[in-house]
Amino acid sequence: MGHYFSLWSRFVYREGLPMFVMAEIADRLPHYKFGLIADVQYADSENGFNFTRTNERFYRRSLTLLKEAVQHWRTERVDSVLQLGDIIDGKCRVEEKSEVCLQRVLNQFQDLQADVYHVWGNHELYNFERNVLMASDLAPKSGCSFPPDCAYYSVVLHPQLRLVALDCYEVSLLGVDNSYKYYDEAWNTLDAVNKNDTWNSPEGLTGLERRFLKYNGGCSTRQVQWLDQELADARSKNQNVIVIGHLPVLESSAHAANLLWNFDEVLRVLSLHKDSMLCYCSGHDHDGGYDQDEAGNHHITFPGVIEATDGNPFGTAHLHDNQLIIYGNGNVPNICIDLKYPIGNAPS
Ligand code: ZN
Repeated sequence: MGHYFSLWSRFVYREGLPMFVMAEIADRLPHYKFGLIADVQYADSENGFNFTRTNERFYRRSLTLLKEAVQHWRTERVDSVLQLGDIIDGKCRVEEKSEVCLQRVLNQFQDLQADVYHVWGNHELYNFERNVLMASDLAPKSGCSFPPDCAYYSVVLHPQLRLVALDCYEVSLLGVDNSYKYYDEAWNTLDAVNKNDTWNSPEGLTGLERRFLKYNGGCSTRQVQWLDQELADARSKNQNVIVIGHLPVLESSAHAANLLWNFDEVLRVLSLHKDSMLCYCSGHDHDGGYDQDEAGNHHITFPGVIEATDGNPFGTAHLHDNQLIIYGNGNVPNICIDLKYPIGNAPS
């Protein structure tokens, strides 16, 4: 925990943006605005605790915090919201309220004149089978581009800003049965490393091995290749890119027990395309975190709303001529990222 606080506090512009940035942007309207939020994990349940009983979880308060975030974005008139997964908690399934609770959270976005883009976390898959999710409001929406039957997608938010959304549970045992095409791959991945009776236990795992847990997952080889193609295509069009996924992919931006199984493969592709990459945004690790990788890409792990103890953690990003500025609420810091392709430099 302390580790993460120190990560946050040494972070860029913790107490506010430097004056030169403020001065530059003060008299300009952003080209595009979007909200970011992770791990709402709403349930109509009494408060509880995480697995290790170190952090309290406020299931009902989550809905209030989401409502406040949406109110903020309504005032800001954001163009879209990126919902980073685990929008409802697995408890909803146990209480047979999955549909009701999902509808209740999605209703919060109703009055917002903005597109809401979702990625799936482990809790979506605790509540719904994968094929049910594919037909739900959490699936890629029309206007997004994606291969058939895939939950990953890309969409051009602004002529010079592309969003690429990963399915971090494509290779997973969650929400599927043994007829699923990646079931064996997921099984073998866990079986090779995790020798515990229950694969959610990290007992005996050390270092980066700790990510081989059932509540994490991986991207298929096909998805990693698709990501590579998306980033190459973005570069050919002078588009800046934001990549999102529920699971973090940089070990210094999250606890090892929360990383994508094949984080190294995704990280390598992101590094190859540093010419167009701005940032990778994720959730899942409720403490949050931040770091830049060796290629200079920013990795922002948004703290979980469900366990928030220091305000309401969400972000609001503004796309300016030369920077993407993420204004942090709660314990999310302000983050200023230089664009790889300044706005107005599109190929003629
Ligand atoms: Zn999660």
